[in-house]
Amino acid sequence: MSRNVLVLADVRDGKLRNVSLESLAAARKVAEGGSVTAAVFGSFAKDLVDPLAEHGADKVLVVTNHELDQYTTDGYFAAFKKVIEHINPDVIFTGHTAVGKDLSPRIAARLGLGLVSDVTRVELEEGRIVFTRPIYAGKAFVKKVFKEGTVFATLRPNNIEKGEADSGRKANVEELRVDVPADLLRTIVKDVVKKSTDGVDLSEARIIVSGGRGVKSADGFKPLEELASLLGGAVGASRGACDSGYCDYALQIGQTGKVVTPDLYIACGISGAIQHLAGMSNSKVIVAINKDPEAPIFQVADYGIVGDLFEVVPLLTEEFKKLLA
Ligand code: FAD
Repeated sequence: MSRNVLVLADVRDGKLRNVSLESLAAARKVAEGGSVTAAVFGSFAKDLVDPLAEHGADKVLVVTNHELDQYTTDGYFAAFKKVIEHINPDVIFTGHTAVGKDLSPRIAARLGLGLVSDVTRVELEEGRIVFTRPIYAGKAFVKKVFKEGTVFATLRPNNIEKGEADSGRKANVEELRVDVPADLLRTIVKDVVKKSTDGVDLSEARIIVSGGRGVKSADGFKPLEELASLLGGAVGASRGACDSGYCDYALQIGQTGKVVTPDLYIACGISGAIQHLAGMSNSKVIVAINKDPEAPIFQVADYGIVGDLFEVVPLLTEEFKKLLA
């Protein structure tokens, strides 16, 4: 059964986020011979056509209004609604990112669509699309199917393998104008002040080195930053570390922070409270470094190192330096 699939490209600083390419891989899988359309918003949208085509878009719909250069709920809502009405897709995917989480429920409610959020797996079973998503803060997984109507899902970053780029693959490009009157926008982004570390985006990082209250101070994060930067990863934190003022809340991972699924999560001086595990326990490999051999983090760790993080982390960095030299 062929389907027409629409993917909303998630863009940050004028660049495509990985989750957009992962969504295209899921789209290609469920299209089953149908067509895949990617929609991309902003005055730079045309620059992003090639990577979208190379990762599986048959058609790219560019909405080049400059009002869409920065995300606002009202602007994106107007544009995405128009795109959906224009394409009339059978399936819609967005990333389970700040943008997708804000926009999707609003679109679903206004257009009377169902929505499955935070999907970690997309499969085809007997011709139906089956979505897997975590429940109970990641302790269990549930499978969902749509009985009828447009299928609409937000996909968690780092869970669906993005396909290899097929260089030279081309897509049809269509430009769509959307009327975004100034009085429609109830918020205007005047400036973006980045609080998290520069470089790798925490929610899409393949490697995360995370610090807890055990780092003891803002300076205590320095060895973690050095290791993360060497490995091309990002620095995260427990709420204990954020509450103690050692780092910004933008780094917080857990139930009330970011949910991450990196290939490698190195937890340093983090006890492993249930609320922290809710944000990282689905990481592919977990390494825990803690002085206390009874710390609950060891129950979810694939590799545990009982020791002082201020000795262990620099040793790891030295060893990785030798390996990477
Ligand atoms: P601690 O529990 O104090 O652990 C510090 C650890 O460091 C200890 O295990 C200690 O043995 C170890 N240590 C100390 N010194 C060293 C050293 N030199 N070397 C190695 N190890 C050392 N927490 C989150 O993280 N994310 C959330 O999103 C979150 N949401 C919450 C929501 C609610 C509603 C509530 C009630 C709580 C939430 N919490 C959250 C808080 C959570 O319950 C814990 O309090 C918090 O995770 C503890 O942080 P921690 O592990 O850094 O600190």
